[in-house]
Amino acid sequence: MIQVENLHKHFGGFHAVDGATLHIAEKSITGLIGPNGAGKTTLFNVIAGVLKPTSGKVLMAGEDITGLEPHELFDKGLLRTFQIAHEFASMTVRENLMMVPPGQSGENLWSTWFHRARIAQEEATLRRKADEVLEFLTIDHIADEKAGNISGGQKKLLELGRTMMTDARIVFLDEVGAGVNRTLLNTIADAIVRLNQERGYTFVVIEHDMDFIGRICDPVICMAEGKVLAEGSLDEIKANEQVIEAYLGT
Ligand code: ADP
Repeated sequence: MIQVENLHKHFGGFHAVDGATLHIAEKSITGLIGPNGAGKTTLFNVIAGVLKPTSGKVLMAGEDITGLEPHELFDKGLLRTFQIAHEFASMTVRENLMMVPPGQSGENLWSTWFHRARIAQEEATLRRKADEVLEFLTIDHIADEKAGNISGGQKKLLELGRTMMTDARIVFLDEVGAGVNRTLLNTIADAIVRLNQERGYTFVVIEHDMDFIGRICDPVICMAEGKVLAEGSLDEIKANEQVIEAYLGT
């Protein structure tokens, strides 16, 4: 689904991504691991259009998507999750979900004035969809909580929920498990697997928790110093000498 060819991203003289080549299979849950500073987040940001590459190519289903803006990639179903922004913290969990779909009539003053009935109808549809998403993620009980007050794990589920309000096909998740308790981490893992199996989502997941990676990701890609070192099952990766060396070297 995604082909990354000889990608470079340089910050001044520093090569954060240094000729990465990799392939992400459709409907896979691919794990991206590697020591701190390996270039994983930078690679994510280049694929998701947040950063422009210095050189190299990114293809999606054979189409060149290198350097497209995040909103153009969003339209193609490629999304990178972001932490709930500060300005959304005072909105409820449900409202955060209802904000996501683009092209709501309510965004435009003209249509606000002239198409009230349509807006009300669209809002009801959105609300229903948001409630379905919350139920799917088993967080319907916090629908009316302010997003700023929910736990770290619940925020991660909300980030995942935002992707479900769109026509996402491939979702990039950064550090899903950071600071999340075991129970919620299991809920997140279940949600990812169910979205993958039931709705055909492709996932690429950066995560340090190897149990989490081992449980849901296949294949796993290991990066170090801006390059791809190895790809395979987590067991294969763990047995790879270059990988061991890269982790020991940090
Ligand atoms: P990882 O996610 O694997 O920990 P990153 O992609 O965050 O790695 O970072 C790779 C390297 O690039 C790090 O050494 C980091 O300091 C550097 N880096 C990341 N972003 C920038 C930036 N905007 N400017 C300069 N250096 C950066």
